[in-house]
Amino acid sequence: MNIKHPKHEQTLVIIKPDGIARGLVGEVIRRYERAGLKLVAMKMMRATPDLIEKHYTLDPEWRRVTGEKTIMGYLDKGLKPPVEDPLQVTAILLGRLVKYMTAGPLVPMVWQGAHAVQIVRKLTGGTEPLMAAVGTIRGDFVIDSYKMTDDDDRSIRNVVHASGSVKEAQDEIAHWFKSNEILDYVTVHEKYLYDPEL
Ligand code: ADP
Ligand code: MG
Repeated sequence: MNIKHPKHEQTLVIIKPDGIARGLVGEVIRRYERAGLKLVAMKMMRATPDLIEKHYTLDPEWRRVTGEKTIMGYLDKGLKPPVEDPLQVTAILLGRLVKYMTAGPLVPMVWQGAHAVQIVRKLTGGTEPLMAAVGTIRGDFVIDSYKMTDDDDRSIRNVVHASGSVKEAQDEIAHWFKSNEILDYVTVHEKYLYDPEL
């Protein structure tokens, strides 16, 4: 098996507590499944605050990048961000995220296929549902904004988490799953998506 082939790329998705409470588990899975991606791991669980905090800080750059993205989200709309320092933004955000992600059960999953990370991000949509494209999960199922969540002192509720890069996906998959929980099997899609001899 050539494990360098792009069809082996894997990414982590977590259906967040709002997605489960709103009965969107099947809808979310359907969207990734129908694109041709292969579900190779899945479970339902409650997370501890520690597991969530570690998940979001696996990437040492996450605090800066997410803080900057939030500030840009305000500036692009001609609004003044409540805090100017990106690291201060994420310090506040992390507390809100832990509260949100431990508010109910989660469904972590691993999806596999060519360009899995990028394809899943595309189908998931941008972080802020107000700006997420129509046709994406966050664009179709959520009405939420940075402004509203800052005013209400809570996290953006956007139904799913999806890894942002191949490196992030590798670290996150190892954080949520043991290697023997990731299963190897064949789907009919694979022949039609990847077989060069078809
Ligand atoms: P993504 O989930 O799109 O990769 P980030 O990694 O930047 O987004 O942020 C992680 C999660 O934190 C988001 O999905 C969202 O639930 C929440 N979040 C991010 N930025 C904000 C913010 N400025 N205000 C409230 N919640 C936020
Ligand atoms: Mg992210």
